[in-house]
Amino acid sequence: MYETDTIAAIVTGMTPSGVGIIRISGPRAIEIGDCLFSSPSGKKILKNAPSHYFNYGYVVSNLKNEKQENSQNGAGKTIDEVFAVVMKAPRSFTGEDTVEIQCHGGIFCMKQILSLAIEAGARLAEPGEFSKRAFLNGRMDLSEAEAVMDSIHAGNALALATSISQLKGNLSKMVKDFRAQILYEMAYIESALDDPEHMSLDHYGETLSEKIKKLIASLNKMIESADQGKVVKEGIDTVIVGKPNAGKSSFLNLLLGEERAIVTDIPGTTRDVLRESITLGNLCLNLVDTAGIRQTKDSVEQIGVKMALESVEKADLVLYLIDSSMDLDEEDEEIISLIKEKKFLVLMNKTDLESKISEEDVLSLFRKQGVEREKITLLSISAKWGDGLEEFKNNVQEMFLQGEILWNDQILITNMRHKNAFIEARDSLLLVEKSIENQMPEDFLTIDLNSAYSSLGRIIGEEVDEDLVNEIFSKFCMGK
Ligand code: GDP
Repeated sequence: MYETDTIAAIVTGMTPSGVGIIRISGPRAIEIGDCLFSSPSGKKILKNAPSHYFNYGYVVSNLKNEKQENSQNGAGKTIDEVFAVVMKAPRSFTGEDTVEIQCHGGIFCMKQILSLAIEAGARLAEPGEFSKRAFLNGRMDLSEAEAVMDSIHAGNALALATSISQLKGNLSKMVKDFRAQILYEMAYIESALDDPEHMSLDHYGETLSEKIKKLIASLNKMIESADQGKVVKEGIDTVIVGKPNAGKSSFLNLLLGEERAIVTDIPGTTRDVLRESITLGNLCLNLVDTAGIRQTKDSVEQIGVKMALESVEKADLVLYLIDSSMDLDEEDEEIISLIKEKKFLVLMNKTDLESKISEEDVLSLFRKQGVEREKITLLSISAKWGDGLEEFKNNVQEMFLQGEILWNDQILITNMRHKNAFIEARDSLLLVEKSIENQMPEDFLTIDLNSAYSSLGRIIGEEVDEDLVNEIFSKFCMGK
C-alpha cells in the first residue's frame, strides 16, 4: 500500500452542468467528508456509512474559520444539497478510502465545496494524481492507466473501443503472456545449468529458436498495428490540394458540414498547423491548413503548389481536387510530382458540369511521372452538390483500416511508448536468435532474453522509474 496524504479535486468538467463531483481520496477522506457533509437531521454519518451507498444530505460549512454569525444554533451555512458516497479502500478507483460528493454542477458551488475540503485538511490533487495512486496501489497497471486518458480523449467510436479494450487489460494480458514465455525459457536455462544431470540442454537451441521466431512474429504484428493505432487515435492528417477554383474550399465546407469531431488536445502531440477535425465513420479526418485555403480565397495567389508543399510533406492523406470542366495543364503536373510519394485520392470535381477531361487524361499525367496505376484512385464528386461523398468516405476508410474492421477486444498499439518497448523487445529477441545461430553458450542467451523481458515490463509499468511515472501522469488532465 502506498502511504500518502489526502487529496481532493473537482473530477467533472469546469463548465456549469447539472451535476458536479468532488472526489476526496486518501487516509483521511472519510473524516474530511464528515467535516463537510451532514445528514438532513444534522448528523455526521459518513464514518459509519456503508461503502458504495448514496447518502442524502447537505454540504454545510461549519469549519472553525467560518464566522459564527453565519450559523444559527451552530449548525453552519448550507452550501448545497448533495449525495455523498463513501468508497472504502481498496474498493475505489485509487484503492484508497474515497468520498465523492455529488453536488449541483455550478462552478462556484463546486469550487466552494472543494475549498471546504482543502480547509478541512485535504491537499489539491495534481493532474493525474488519482490515476497515479490507482497505479501505485496496484489497482491498474501503467498501460491500463494510460487507457483511461485515451478513452477521455477518444474522438470516434473505434478510438474509444481501442482504449476501452486496453483499459480492460487486453494489452496487459498479452504482454504478460509474452513475458511468461520468456521467463519460462530463462528459468529453464538456469535450472538446466544448475542441474545438468536431470535437465538436458541438448538440442535446446533448436527448440528455443522455434519459440523465439513465433514470439518475434507476434511482436512484429503489434509493432505494425501502431500505424493503424496512430490513425485511430489521432486521426488522419489530410490536406486538400488543387489549382485555384478547383473547388477546394467548397469541398472543405462540404466535409465540415458533416459531423464535427470532438477535438481535444492530446498530450504529447504537437501540431503546428491549424486543423479542423471531422468524424468519418470510424476515423477522424484532421483537415490541415484549412486556414490557408480560406485566407487566400480572394487573393490572387490562392493556395497553390507553393503553399501546399509543406503541408503535403506532413500529411497522411492528400486529396487532389481537379476541376473536370477545365483542361489539365503544367500546374497539374507539378501537383502530381508533389504528391506522388504520398497516400492520395484524386477527386474529379464538378461532375454536374460538362466534362472537358476524361479519367484517362488524368491517368496519363500520372503515368508520365512514373506513378503505377494501382496507386491511383479516381473518384467523381460534386463539391457543390455533395455527389460522391459516400464513396469518398468508404474509400478513405478502406485506405486506412485494412483488413477486417477491428472491433471490441482488438489490440492495437496507440501509444509511442508501447511501440518503442515492443521494438526493443523484438530487437533483443533477434539477438537471441543470432546467438543461437552462432552456438553461443546458453547462459549468454539469458542476457538478451532478460532485456526483452524488461522492455515488455515497461509497458505495464514494471521496471519503470519514478521519473517516467511522474512524467506519464503529469500529462493527465486535472481531476483524473
Ligand atoms: P478553390 O479555389 O479551389 O477553393 O475553389 P472554390 O471552392 O472556391 O470553388 C470555385 C468555384 O467553383 C466556386 O464558384 C464554386 O461554387 C464552384 N464549384 C465548386 N465545386 C463545384 C461543383 O461541384 N460544381 C459546380 N458547378 N461548381 C462548383
